[in-house]
Amino acid sequence: MRTRRDPRAERQAKLVPGTARPRFLVGAAPAGFANAGAATGPTGRPRRDPRASRAAAVVRTAPRLRLDWTNKGQASLAIGTAQAAAAVKAAVRVIEEPAFLVLAVLDQPGGAPSDHDRQLIAGARLLADAGGGAVVAVTVEGVSGLGEAGADRLLALPADLAEGYEPERHAAAVLAAIETLKPRHVLFAESADGGADLARRVAAALGERLFAGVEALSPDRASRRARGGAAEMARAPARLMSVAADALPPHEGTVHEARTIPAPAFEAERRIGAVRPLAVDPDLIPLTETDFILSAGNGVTDWEGFAELARVLGATRGGSRVVCDEGHLPRERQVGASGSLVRAGCYVAYGIAGAPQHLQGITEVKRVVAINTDLHAEMIKRADLAIVADAQEVMPALIRHALERRAERQGKERRNA
Ligand SMILES: Cc1cc2nc3c(=O)[nH]c(=O)nc-3n(C[C@H](O)[C@H](O)[C@H](O)COP(=O)(O)OP(=O)(O)OC[C@H]3O[C@@H](n4cnc5c(N)ncnc54)[C@H](O)[C@@H]3O)c2cc1C
Repeated sequence: MRTRRDPRAERQAKLVPGTARPRFLVGAAPAGFANAGAATGPTGRPRRDPRASRAAAVVRTAPRLRLDWTNKGQASLAIGTAQAAAAVKAAVRVIEEPAFLVLAVLDQPGGAPSDHDRQLIAGARLLADAGGGAVVAVTVEGVSGLGEAGADRLLALPADLAEGYEPERHAAAVLAAIETLKPRHVLFAESADGGADLARRVAAALGERLFAGVEALSPDRASRRARGGAAEMARAPARLMSVAADALPPHEGTVHEARTIPAPAFEAERRIGAVRPLAVDPDLIPLTETDFILSAGNGVTDWEGFAELARVLGATRGGSRVVCDEGHLPRERQVGASGSLVRAGCYVAYGIAGAPQHLQGITEVKRVVAINTDLHAEMIKRADLAIVADAQEVMPALIRHALERRAERQGKERRNA
């Protein structure tokens, strides 16, 4: 038998007496009602308490009231205080004894996880959270940002595997991890950088089917397009799956522990050396496919310097309509509404004003660096990093810096060899 609710009486009971304007206590149901003091409402949905969230976001060490919403009101992040450090620590979610494990075999070992890797960890998180499981990111030691990406553990592969994709050794390492950890699911990146090949090698070695190119994932369903997009293929999440790029959103919210665990020993023949991308002339890569664009506008006058900088940085050259109209760059190099819509990871805009037609071409770009003499240029507003200076003066400085960094790197490689 269900209890009959009386919303008016419930509301009246929450009235806070003694305030000028009517104020209602929304944090918990009042005594005498079903759900009194509970964190969930009568419908079973979690109750929001805006006052508590605001109180949690107060940075206590600041002289004036300061709110920090970076952690969604869960913790105050006053840098350098023990109190804040403790708060951050408390916000980390630790899964000590998981019911099962989900492996996310990262595509790019070393450095920060790529976007695709983050999506992979998010997919693993989704499967793990459905039943008290934990996510193990398989990569090399020292990779940063895995806890924020949603990984509970980091299975540290030998450091030399970060240097490139070695098909046999990578497959042997993952097979040893599967043998030891007995995960419920193993997720790979469906990518040309090694993930797709690795997934198929592991599946073949285990004699199991791989559900490749997953585009939608939930705890009880994985799906992908079939027959050239004319049909959809769906099933319960398989043990071995590879995830398509940009199919799943990255994990947000809880920060996880990313505790390092050692990788089990493995043996592998090394018949194939490390698979590394071949160096190509960046100008031969179409603007829509390249990840790094050095783009020129009307503020550029030193065209030799611009070409030299692009060569040293290994960037693909692009430009505004004005410079293509004037013949400094071919028409197919034009970025913007009537040129190419680019999706680069980094776009360096040299002396480009940032007209709406140009900005339309870079809406999907992740990071913009602007060099412009005008502090108020629209491109400076759009930029993640801005240099307010003459484009011609910044070019030689950047070339010198890039060459110095390259010499340093080569020296280090020679010493390590
Ligand atoms: C229908 C239509 C479609 C269009 N499509 C496109 C398109 O696809 N792509 C496109 O780019 N444009 C397009 N345009 C043109 C667009 O409106 C702008 O005219 C153009 O983008 C301006 O190019 P710009 O920023 O290089 O030049 P300018 O507007 O001349 O700006 C030059 C910038 O360089 C800076 N500068 C000057 N000297 C220096 C220096 N020494 N060092 C550093 N900075 C300096 C200036 O402060 C200024 O911000 C289109 C226009 C129309 C009407």
